[in-house]
Order: sequence, then structure tokens, then C-alpha cells
Amino acid sequence: MSTDTTEKVLPYDDVVASFDPVLGLEVHVELGTATKMFCGCPTTFGAAPNTQVCPTCLGLPGSLPVVNKVGVESAIRIGLALNCSIAEWCRFARKNYFYPDMPKNFQTSQYDEPIAYDGYLDVDVETDEGVKTFRIGIERAHMEEDTGKTTHQGGATGRIHGADYSLVDYNRAGIPLIEIVTKPIEGTGKYAPEVARAYVTALRELLRGLGVSDVKMEQGSLRCDANVSLRRTPSDTFGTRTETKNVNSLRSIERAVRYEMTRQAAVLEDGGSITQETRHWHEDTGITTSGRSKEEAEDYRYFPEPDLVPIAPSREWVEELRTSLPENPAVRRARLQQVWGISDLDMQTVLNAGALDVVEDTVAAGADQAAARKWWLGELARVANERGVELADLPITPAQVAGVEALVSEGTLNDKLARQVIEGVLAGEGEPDAVVASRGLAVVSDDGPLLAAIDEALAAQPDVADKIRGGKVQAAGAIVGAVMKATRGQADAGRVRALLLERLGVSE
Ligand code: ADP
Ligand code: MG
Ligand code: ZN
Repeated sequence: MSTDTTEKVLPYDDVVASFDPVLGLEVHVELGTATKMFCGCPTTFGAAPNTQVCPTCLGLPGSLPVVNKVGVESAIRIGLALNCSIAEWCRFARKNYFYPDMPKNFQTSQYDEPIAYDGYLDVDVETDEGVKTFRIGIERAHMEEDTGKTTHQGGATGRIHGADYSLVDYNRAGIPLIEIVTKPIEGTGKYAPEVARAYVTALRELLRGLGVSDVKMEQGSLRCDANVSLRRTPSDTFGTRTETKNVNSLRSIERAVRYEMTRQAAVLEDGGSITQETRHWHEDTGITTSGRSKEEAEDYRYFPEPDLVPIAPSREWVEELRTSLPENPAVRRARLQQVWGISDLDMQTVLNAGALDVVEDTVAAGADQAAARKWWLGELARVANERGVELADLPITPAQVAGVEALVSEGTLNDKLARQVIEGVLAGEGEPDAVVASRGLAVVSDDGPLLAAIDEALAAQPDVADKIRGGKVQAAGAIVGAVMKATRGQADAGRVRALLLERLGVSE
């Protein structure tokens, strides 16, 4: 591991007072095609190592690639959804370099002829002046293939240093990737970290809506590299950029950009200069460390791939794909906001939490929108955060959340019990009904046991009982509390209060 972990940083407020950030985001998305980009091998995640390989994706001599049509179709659909032009004619290129997990010694990619170019994606960010839309220019979206995966065994860190040996799994080699590269993003000022996060969030939403990928950042099907540079004022030419690699959660994108801004600013304020280099993001410590510098990099000796025919998507095909695009996410957001009748800010909270899909599905499963938002943004967001996973990856479905909420609205559960039911579902104890039954969680709605508990509480606190009889209705809280405790929270507090007052013959 790198030792230069103590680089100076400038406080963020000082950074934005003295510098203007420019961003560039490169997102790799692994397509969800059934087979690989240039061969027929399956792409299932998590298969036993090296069971999904063939001569082509292993780069054996004499093997020939064939383009996956669904891969090209997905690339075009992504390009169209990003408002890009679609090339009339483009080629694959060989990007030559050696890496042990890349058996062909070149990556089949695209170079100066991307399939999609010159588009944009609008993203909304909450600013001091309300929600503001930033238009992110898209430079290009091109097709390429993934590499295999190397794991280093025996060391403490999982990194190559200190490892006893390394294992290579080629199952991932040849899985189709689309790389989406933004134009330099200017004009974000102090909101640069939030804009970066909002862009990847919006892009992920768009890709999910297209159904082209499962867009799981933690499994690596969506990966982001963040380029950051600083300049003194917006009229200066761009500063030297660094490229922070593989930032693998939405939150880390924001953190990595913010950190890099504070680090670069400290260097520049000290009269130093920024080295153009790749940097590694460290999730645990929240810093980036130096990777390889661009000077010693990269002459990939790109040349057109001779084994693949050029791609020339007919205009009819492109138009057909355009008309079959799903509802644009921005349009969908506006529609749902209107249907649910919620404010911009409430909608933004849903989006920031990545909760739009789950809330929509929970409402579709019968829950009220307010209740659906309450569970996903409250209890479930807390658990997801604790576990470091996305809401959608929690082991509870929108239908189950709607099920819990149905039990609340019919009076079987109060909120406190509902949280326990959710806990049970998350713990794998089954459907909400089953958890209620097995944990014995239903609200006690039968007045008999409630009256018994009330009498017991009154007997235990005779002075309080007298106060209430004497008209001090505020004192009822103590008795209600005792009854709730005695019934382990399973009583309806409102009902207990009503029964108590009736018992003592007083009214509110
Ligand atoms: P590389 O091959 O180094 O990854 P790319 O062109 O693929 O280069 O991506 C570079 C990214 O950085 C693009 O999004 C580009 O818009 C952005 N970029 C270029 N120059 C700067 C700069 N000075 N500061 C910030 N971002 C930049
Ligand atoms: Mg790049
Ligand atoms: Zn193969």
C-alpha cells in the first residue's frame, strides 16, 4: 500500500473560495447480455472460476470474434437515451497492452470512431437557491469488453503486495462494456462533488430504466473514474487533472471528488503543481493515493480490429430503437412527483436515497405513497446504510414493505411493532404475516387484557389514579405508559387511554 497517506488538504470552503473545479466522469457499465461481446460464453455472475470461457475470450490462436448484436443494440439505445448522435459507420479497435487478466494482450474497444457521441444528460442538484439543473455534456459512449479478474491470495490486504500467489478468473473477460465519457464539466463551483454524484445517480437510473444492465456498483457492473482539476477562475484554461479510479459507490464519488479538490488546492496554494496521474480511492480512509503517472503511460498502439466487420447501423434500425425507448427518467420523475403530490424537496430526498424505484413499486403494491417513503427513507435507509448496500439489495421486497404497511393500516400493527416485523423479514424469518405470527407481534386489540393491565397499573399507582379521578387528565400518560410496557408495546396507546378514562369516569 502507498505510504503517502498524509498529504495536506485545504478546508473545502477555502478551496471553493480560491479555485474553480472542472470534472470529467468516465463510467463503465457492464451490459446484462446473456452472452459475451465477441463469443457465445454465458455471463452469469458468480459462476465457478474459468467455467465460462472459450478459445475466443481466452485469446487462443486462430479463434475469431463475432459481434453480439444485443450488445450493439444496447449501445445504441444508451446513446439515444443520452441524446447522442449515432455513428453511421464505426469500427472496433485494438487497444494494446499487457495485463495478466487480459489474455489476448489487447482489449477490443473503440477509439476514434465511437458508436455514440455528442450528447447530454440533465441532472438536478439541490443548491442554496433551490433545485438547479446542470446539463452534463456527453463526449462519447463506446463499446468494449471487460477483462478477467485477478485475486491475490495469502496477504492481509487482498492486494498484490504481501500475497503468496495470484489467481486469474477469465469468466469476466469479454463481457460487453459500454464506456460513457463526459465532456469537461464546468460551472459547478462548490457543488462539484454533488453534481458528480447526481450525474452517476441519474445515469444509473437511466441505464436501469433501459434494462441494459443491473447497474450494481458493489458488484462492479457500474464503475466510475473521476477526473478532477482546479483552476483559479472560470476564464483560465483547464488545470492539470488527476483521474481517480474505480470509485464504487455513489457516496464515494462525492467524497472522492471533494477530497481530490481539497488535496489539489493544498498543492497549488503551496506553489506546487499537479501531476497528471491516476489515483486510487480508499473507501476506509476517505483519501486518494497516487497510482501511475501519465508520463510513463500509455501508448496503446490503437489500430482497427481486422477480425471484425465495421458496424453500420441502418437509420431505420436506429429510429426503431429510438421510438422504443422507455419513458425518460426526468419525465418519469416529474410524473411520479405529481401523482404522489409531493414537493421538489421531498422528491429530491427520494432520489438522493436512490429510493425512486422501491417507493414506486411499494405504492404499486398497494401502500400509500407517504407510508412507502417513510419506511424506505427511514428504517430501511438506516439498515441499508449500516450494511453498506443499496435499498434495492436489502432482503426485503417492495411488496413485503407494502404488506407491513397494510398490517399497520388495518390496526394489526403499530409503528413500533411494524419495525420489528421489518427486522424479522430482513432476518429471513419469512413474509410479514409469518413474522407477526411467529414473534407474536400483533397489537392487542381485545379490550379484556387491556382492561386487566389498566387495573393492575392503577392499583400499582393509586396516587396517580386519584389525580386522574380528580380531573388531572395529563396524569393519564403514566398509566398508559405502564400499560404499554406491560403489553410489550403491543397495545394501541390511543385505545388504552380511552379505556382508562372510561374506567375512571372522566373525560378529556
Ligand atoms: P483518459 O484516456 O485519460 O481516460 P478520456 O478522454 O477517456 O481520457 O477521459 C478524460 C475525462 O476527463 C473526460 O471526461 C474529459 O472530459 C475530462 N477532462 C479532460 N480534461 C480535463 C481537465 N483538465 N480537468 C477535468 N476533467 C478533464
Ligand atoms: Mg478513459
Ligand atoms: Zn468465450
